[in-house]
Parts: sequence; C-alpha cells; structure tokens
Amino acid sequence: MARKAAPPPPAAPANEGANPFVDASGGAAPRDALANDAAALDRSLRPAAFPDFVGQQACVENLVLAIRAAKARGETLDHVLLSGLPGLGKTTLAHLVASELGAGLKETSAPAIQRAADLAGLLTNLEPGDVLFIDEIHRLPSAVEEYLYAAMERFVIDVVIDQGPGARSLRIDLPRFTLVGATTREGLLAAPFRSRFGLTERLEPYPPADLVRILLRSAAVLAVGLEADAAAYLAERARGTPRVANRFLKRVRDLAQLTAGNRITRDVAIEGLRRLGVDGRGLMRVDRLVLEVLVRAEGIPVGLKTIAAAVGEDERTIEDVYEPHLLRCGLMMRSPQGRRATSGAYDALGRPPPRAGSREGTLPFDGPPTD
Ligand code: ADP
Repeated sequence: MARKAAPPPPAAPANEGANPFVDASGGAAPRDALANDAAALDRSLRPAAFPDFVGQQACVENLVLAIRAAKARGETLDHVLLSGLPGLGKTTLAHLVASELGAGLKETSAPAIQRAADLAGLLTNLEPGDVLFIDEIHRLPSAVEEYLYAAMERFVIDVVIDQGPGARSLRIDLPRFTLVGATTREGLLAAPFRSRFGLTERLEPYPPADLVRILLRSAAVLAVGLEADAAAYLAERARGTPRVANRFLKRVRDLAQLTAGNRITRDVAIEGLRRLGVDGRGLMRVDRLVLEVLVRAEGIPVGLKTIAAAVGEDERTIEDVYEPHLLRCGLMMRSPQGRRATSGAYDALGRPPPRAGSREGTLPFDGPPTD
C-alpha cells in the first residue's frame, strides 16, 4: 500500500474552534492573528513536566499511576480520553503523558481526519509506543470512528484497495500505540467509542488559587514582575481557565513594560483588563453582547442560532466558550426551548431589573428553567 503522509492541520474557519480569546480585544485585531498568537503563547507557556502542571490533582494522579504501572509492565498505556472546556489543559496533558512515557507524540485534530484514508495514513506512520493525540475527537465522522475501533482494540487496520468489482480489503498490523483523545463535548461521543478508552478523565475549571500559581509561573517564564494582588485580580477574572489567565498576563505585560517598569501591579492589571474589554466581573465583549440579546428578548427563550447570528460568532464558540461561563455565573438559563437572561444579567449590564408585572418580570428569574 502506498503510504500516505499525516494529514495537514485542519483549515478551520478563522473564528471557529476552541479559542476563548478571539474577542477579548473587542475585535480590534484580526481573528486569525489572535488565534496564531494564542497558539504560540500556549506552546511557550506549556509545562514540560507533571510537577509544573497545576491543580486537577485526581486526574494527574490517575494518569501518573497508570503511566508508571504500564511502564513497569513494559506495556503501552491504555487509551486516554480527556474532556473539559477549551483551555483547561487537555493538549498539555497529552504532551506530558508522552514525555512521561518517553514516547513520541503525533498530534492532529478530528477535522483533519474526514476519511478513513486520512486515519490510515496517520496510523501507519506511528512508531511502536507512540502517543497519538486527536483533538476535538467528538468531531470524527462516525465511519472513521468505527474504523478506529479495530485500531484501538486489536492494533490492525483494514484498508480497502481498488474500487468496484476488483476491490479488496488488506489487513495491516499496526504498532501498539496509545490514543489520547480530547473533547469539549464528551456527551457527543458514541457509547461504544467512549468505552474503548481505558482511562477517562474530566478537567474542571480551576479555582482562583490554582490560576494564581499558573500566572506566577507564567510571569517567571515571560520575565515580568507580577505582584500577588495583581495575580489575584487577573485570576478571579480568568473564567477558571489557564489559557485565559495566560492571555491576560501577556496583554497586561505589554502595558507593564511600557508604563510600569516591567512590573504588573494591581493598577496595571485593572487598566490592562479594561483595555481588553474585560469588565470587573470578568465578562468579555461577547459575553455582554450575548446578555444584551437575551435581555432584549424580554424573557422569550432565544435559540443558539439567533444568538450566534446576532453577536457575529460561530455557534460552537458560543456554546463551548461563552455559555459555560455565563451559566456558571448564573447570568443565563438554558432549556430545550432556548436561552434566557436571569435577573443577574440586568445587573451585569448595569440595567434596572425588570419591573414586576412586565413580561420579563413575570418570568421565574433566578429559578431553574420551568420550560
Ligand atoms: P486545551 O487543550 O484544553 O484547550 P491547553 O493544554 O492548550 O488547553 O492549555 C492552554 C494553555 O494553558 C497552555 O499554555 C497550557 O500550558 C496552560 N495550562 C493549562 N493547564 C495548565 C495547568 N494545569 N498548569 C499550568 N499551565 C496550564
């Protein structure tokens, strides 16, 4: 069989995917430039060993234990599924798993694997013991997913050669490898697929204390002074997400460098976030736009498509990046009928709460969705 090179990285639309920063600038910079900037920042601040990976203790302990046991047995590690919101450290953990195993890492993303042949190309290029990292694994087409089952379980792949009546199937043995899948939507994975992962770990948003540690480490890497109360200010507004915290730090560093002798004080942090369009509650421009849409709907549930169109964002980005934060803050309610603002949303936008007796005032704000 002619070997096929690993597929190129996905050519995602510029505003698509797991990038919580695309709008932090208030839209001042081109989105793709910001996305590239974010990817480079992620790489430069990525911890190189497990001890530098802050928090997520249970998950890290489970992974380290499984890695040590597999190494002691001289076996490859079970396949690993990592789930959690964008920017919580799934890619970082995949790198750490590979380096702790002393294995090579091949990295790709599901949108780049649209045909079984793409997958075959990837798998036949693996070296024994390699870690294959597939990001956004919930986006694999189901035909490709089923093809992956035999590879995960029996380390073989059946390749169909030729077409029409002459078509034949050729079985190729693969080296043993560990698949690390990352997903922001574990619920979208078919049960048979999920059950093929020996280790399933869910990453949760980080408490501010963990984000402070991440910020202090990143500040040392970026060679900028960061005062404790400034770190706390940034951490509290970083939506429980290391990527957001690091992004804030990098932007605030520019201000510190030009105006404060390369030292981030609380005042510099406050001014830096204000310039990024992040308010005192940590809401970004798109968060506020989403809330505006819901408040203007006066209590009528609004669908995701409408919200995405109204704020000019991709539906997936709204669902993966903005909504989880608004839901966690209690500013939005979600039901099968759509999204609605809570009374907290009026407060966050600096609006008076809906009057009792008005259409929105009669709705069960702050209560669980009743529809
Ligand atoms: P994901 O793959 O979940 O979107 P990444 O692994 O790319 O997230 O992490 C985004 C950024 O945040 C990277 O620079 C990463 O190193 C940093 N980061 C994430 N989690 C941690 C952590 N627990 N400790 C230190 N840095 C972290």
